[in-house]
Order: sequence, then structure tokens, then C-alpha cells
Amino acid sequence: MVDDAPGRTPRSDELRNRALRLTPGGVHSNVRLAGARDFIQRAQGAWLYSVDGQDYVDYLLGQGPNFLGHAPGHVIDAVFRACKDGVIFGGQHELEVRAGELVLEALGWADLVRFSMTGTEAVQAALRLARAVTGRTKIVRFEGHYHGWLDNVLISERDGRWGPASRGQLASHLEDSIILPWNDAERLADVLGRDGEQVAAVIMEPIMINAGVIEPRAGYLEEVRRLCDEHGIVLIFDEVIAGFRLGLGGATERYGVTPDLATYGKAIAGGFPVAALAGRADLMARFGTGEVNHSGTFNASVMAMAAVVASVGTLIDEPPYERVAEHGTALMAGLREIGLARNLPLRVSGLPAAFHVSFGDVEVTDYRSLQKLDLARYERFVPVLVEHGLWVAGRGVWYVSAAHGPKELDAALTRFEKALTQWV
Ligand code: PLP
Repeated sequence: MVDDAPGRTPRSDELRNRALRLTPGGVHSNVRLAGARDFIQRAQGAWLYSVDGQDYVDYLLGQGPNFLGHAPGHVIDAVFRACKDGVIFGGQHELEVRAGELVLEALGWADLVRFSMTGTEAVQAALRLARAVTGRTKIVRFEGHYHGWLDNVLISERDGRWGPASRGQLASHLEDSIILPWNDAERLADVLGRDGEQVAAVIMEPIMINAGVIEPRAGYLEEVRRLCDEHGIVLIFDEVIAGFRLGLGGATERYGVTPDLATYGKAIAGGFPVAALAGRADLMARFGTGEVNHSGTFNASVMAMAAVVASVGTLIDEPPYERVAEHGTALMAGLREIGLARNLPLRVSGLPAAFHVSFGDVEVTDYRSLQKLDLARYERFVPVLVEHGLWVAGRGVWYVSAAHGPKELDAALTRFEKALTQWV
């Protein structure tokens, strides 16, 4: 690994050695086991700064949450101000009302909202609610879609078969999951035609950002919506990444198809840990009667709600979406040009706010076709990009924030070109 080159990151190496003595793998989320080894000292806007004095243009954005850039001043100020008067009350407070109002205004389609800390929890609440309202057990979900790290949703593929992704994960917790290829309406219609009466929910990332940033085929989401209606199934969009990033109304607004429930997180709170489940009143109301349990000591804390009010307030009052699209479009085009100039099959696809970089030249419409790309080659390239000052992740998804501008575009393309020249 380039990152292991002696002498380049002495302070990071020292911290990493200390961390390894305290913490399994030296990290607190397994997603980071494969990440860069450099320790970060601080972050501002679209930039990260390591303890070894290296700067990085950041296109990982903390796995998505820093949509307004790092340390957005007004969000940080709002959180500090609010927390001076207490952080968690075991009771209600005004900011959570304001946060709910803003989230529902931004989404435009949902009637009620519940806040949680993480996307994983919001997904669990959605699945439980769907089972409660339908009285059914089965969940249809899709290859390559990520819905959190818990036993009943974490899956991986081995030799074409999908199953538990982790040792210690009970296979029985996946017995009620029907895992299908995505973007294939006929297959879904077949399965629902047979087993529809047992299916409580269909859950999907309406644009599959986690695996390849793949858009739904024209008409696919409409057909999924129609099939769910036909079979009395709750349609859940997992918008933990897409929500507030693709636009105020997320993927639901972009594709014009409305789910019954949707989960949000990441870009909703300027980097603070907040997630939300939003949806139709007749379903969501079941939490309010106490029939369906959704709990959490830290749900809707002052910190979380102040962050949502400041972040979503900004997204509504000063929408950054055109700026983000401009940067992302220019960056995607610039990366493609660099690949073309070297005759390399560099593939850049997706949307300006979230796109995918890899090597290969095939049509990609789902998880299976994504595997035909040379994903391993891009993964090998990532440490070289990090060494050259681009903070990106091995699985190839690049996120753009409201803080990325012309200076970052210039730096990113120059650094990418240098990294590629050194590497090939
Ligand atoms: N759903 C999707 C689509 C996600 O991308 C993620 C996280 O990346 C989650 C759910 C889980 O969210 P969290 O990591 O906040 O628990």
C-alpha cells in the first residue's frame, strides 16, 4: 500500500499504532477498516487536513453527511447555542417541532415524521411499522442495496448467493427476506404474483447509490408502486443517502414516485447524527397510539434538532442544488477527459451530487452488471488518490457538497491527473 510508505505519515502512524492497541482494527466502524490510514486533524468546507500536514479535497464527506461542507458555521453555532440550555430532557422541546415542520415542508409528500439517530434505526422502524400495518412478515429487498448493519438487513453475495454478511449474524433473521435483482419489474411482478399476500414491504434505495450510483430504469419505480398497490404492500424508499442531497424532496421528487414510508439521514443535519422516518399519516399514526414501538434515548436531542433546523432551513432558504450540480457536472466531465487522454477505460457515471468512478466499459443497470466492471482496479488506485490529496473511498462513490467550488475543481482534477500519471 502506498499509504504504508515509511515516513509519509509519521504522526498518523503513531496514532494508528496507539489506536490498534485500544480498538479492534483501530476503527469504530467496520466500513472504515478499508479506509485511508491518515488521521484527520480538522476539516473545513470541502477540505480535510491530516495530522501530518497533508490536505485533501474531500469527496467522501463523512460517507455523505457533510452536504453543506465541513463545519458549516451557522449549523455549528446553532447547535452550540441550543446546547447551552441543555442537551436531552426526556421530554419535548420547541426545536423538535420546528425541525419536523421544516422536514415535512422540504419533502412535500409526507404527513408525519419521527426522528432517530441513525439510518439503520430509521429502517428498522419502517420495517416494523410495515409488518404491523399489514400483519405480514416478508420483506422484498434488492441485490446491492444497503439498509444498515443489523442482522435482518445486512447481506452480501458469495458465488451468486446472498446471505449474512458477517460472522455471528443469524441466518434465520434473513428468512423473511426475498432478495431480488433490482431494476427488473418483471421479476418483481412474478414474485409478488406468487407470494404477494405474504409481503409486508418492498424496500429499496430508489437510486442505488451504495452500489454504483445506478438510476432506476424509466418506468421502473412507477411499476413497483403499482405492484405494491395491487398487492397491499407498503413501499419504503430508503433515502438515507439520496434524501436532501438530490434536491429538497430527494429521489421521491426527482423520479416523481411517492412511497408510503421513506427513511432519511446523512445530509439532513450538516454532519450531526440524525435520521428520520417520514410517511403517510394512517401508517405513521400507529407509533402515536403506542401500538408500534419506536424508541431511543437520544432521539430528537437538542443537538440533533438544532442541526436539522439550521441545515434544512438553509436548504430551503438558499438551495445549493444548482451549485452542487455545476461542480459535479464539471468534475465528472473533467475526470472522463483525463481518462480519455490516457486511453484508459475510466468510467464516471451517476448524478452530479453523487457519482461512481471505476474502470470498465459495460452497460450497468443493477448489481450484477456492476460486477462486470473492474472494481478491484479502482480500489487499488484509491490509496494513490489519497496520497495525492483526494479523500475518496474504495467502492467508487464520490459525493459533492455545497462547499465545492472552482478552486476545489481545479485542485481535484490536477491531483487526479497526477495520481493517474504516477500510477499507470
Ligand atoms: N440506508 C442507506 C441507503 C445507507 O446508505 C445507510 C448508510 O450508509 C443506511 C441506511 C444506514 O445508515 P447509518 O449508517 O446512519 O446507520
